[in-house]
Amino acid sequence: MLTSISGKSCIVTGGSKGIGKGISKVFAAQGAKVMVAARSEKEAMATVEEIRRDGGTADMVLCDVSDWDQVQHMTEYTAKTFGGIDILCANAGIFPQVKMVDMSADDWDNVMDINLKSSFLCVKACIPHFEKSSSGRVVITSSITGPVTGFPGWAHYGASKAGQLGFIRTAAMELARYNTTINAVMPGNIMTEGLADLGQDYLDAMASSIPLKRLGSADDIANAALFFASDEAAYITGQSIVVDGGQILPESLDAIAEI
Ligand code: NAP
Repeated sequence: MLTSISGKSCIVTGGSKGIGKGISKVFAAQGAKVMVAARSEKEAMATVEEIRRDGGTADMVLCDVSDWDQVQHMTEYTAKTFGGIDILCANAGIFPQVKMVDMSADDWDNVMDINLKSSFLCVKACIPHFEKSSSGRVVITSSITGPVTGFPGWAHYGASKAGQLGFIRTAAMELARYNTTINAVMPGNIMTEGLADLGQDYLDAMASSIPLKRLGSADDIANAALFFASDEAAYITGQSIVVDGGQILPESLDAIAEI
């Protein structure tokens, strides 16, 4: 049993949907005070209301994580509302699919800004709060796509997700002086609103290529994030964990057919 995160102040970017919503609800169920950050007010508020209905503590802040001023506002509002910031789950991200022949420089920059630059901006904005409390936890949502696997249409996305892992190695060293750890979860295919947008054929093909024969749930990722946020993970930093039902393991189509 992990030591409780009860009473801790936590930001979850992209907390309005999918994996971020799962993290928000699991952390709130553990007693954390959860700030849901996203661009759409309606969906962010829906997550907040679900948490409050279940007896948890949550609030929301509108924030585009690729914009420094908005990220600063997000952290200041959270610190004011919840009395500090203990945990940052930098989870917001997009995965538009476009092959390189059709990809524009703007397409590339947009994915890098929202997925990768945002990790830096959110961590940077939290540093004064981690410094103040001399403690902190950062959990980044990366992916298997990029660091481990490839998929046509996701050159920019894969680069952004691999970039996050490069970022945390140096960030871990810089955050150590504030007694703060930073780690990443690397999800496989997780059933979220964003994944559903890729279509049923994609979902079916993915489920059949996973040894555990199912897509992951948002809770599967939230539970790994919860471990990194816990006291028990205090001596782990700059590391990542794949949560994918074994998806990266098969060497060939024959190997998966054998199961
Ligand atoms: P999702 O269902 O599409 O949800 C994305 C969330 O991010 C929403 O809350 C969205 O809210 C928010 N968001 C997007 N752009 C934002 C921005 N510029 N500023 C602030 N918030 C923003 O996606 P998901 O599947 O849960 O994915 C979440 C994370 O997991 C991403 O980083 C993704 O790369 C990673 N991941 C997902 C999978 C998977 O299979 N689902 C696999 C590997 C990694 P608004 O649109 O209202 O801003």
